[in-house]
Amino acid sequence: MRRERGIIVAIDGPSGAGKSTLAKELAKRIGYRQLDTGAMYRAMAWLARETGLDLNDDAAVAAFCVGANIELQPQNGSSRVFANGREVTAEIRTPEISMLTSRMSALRPVREAMTQLQRRMGADGGVVLEGRDIGTVVFPDAELKFFLTASAEERGRRRFLELQAKGNSISLEATIEEVKQRDAQDAGRALAPLRQAEDALPLDSTGMSIDEVVSFMERAVQTAIAEKGV
Ligand code: C5P
Repeated sequence: MRRERGIIVAIDGPSGAGKSTLAKELAKRIGYRQLDTGAMYRAMAWLARETGLDLNDDAAVAAFCVGANIELQPQNGSSRVFANGREVTAEIRTPEISMLTSRMSALRPVREAMTQLQRRMGADGGVVLEGRDIGTVVFPDAELKFFLTASAEERGRRRFLELQAKGNSISLEATIEEVKQRDAQDAGRALAPLRQAEDALPLDSTGMSIDEVVSFMERAVQTAIAEKGV
């Protein structure tokens, strides 16, 4: 498929595999936009908590999704996140919101609303999207797909360091446990579960530096662009 601005690069994988850092760095190097779809689900969860939404009330969830307005505004190679006009960039990065997001993102109206929005945002190409179901559901026709993994311990340790840097006092053990629980929930759900697309390139980043992984990805992008002629 011919896209206006370049190819679509999908990066899927479990929490803490390094998707955000790598997507950001890759997008910068190749001059593409970056779309953090996890941040969009997190903003939905934040809004649900703010408005006291009952996740068991199907009609209320459906109405909530119609009224929710999630926006990503690029800034200095990163994104500011807005939920119904209010900036929630920092507030969505807590362990509590992480767990609520994982529960909420299993609901059909939530997935439908976010998938539609992500397709609109990425359709022209020239974009790196990261998430759990980009290569399988959102853009199954993406020109290049990566499935990024790392050992659960390494992923937990990375999340722990991120949270610690933000002043969160959660322990390493609790963080590893949270990451494992969230992955099991994300992989076990009926709709758009976390899984590797058949045509995705698997990449295990355990013990690799950011630069090594991004350089590998960049070469794959150049090959995909040459092959697909976008
Ligand atoms: O990537 P991040 O850890 O910020 O994602 C938070 C949660 O959002 C994930 O645990 C998952 O439940 C959900 N998510 C999803 N589909 C995506 C991206 C994120 O279900 N494409």
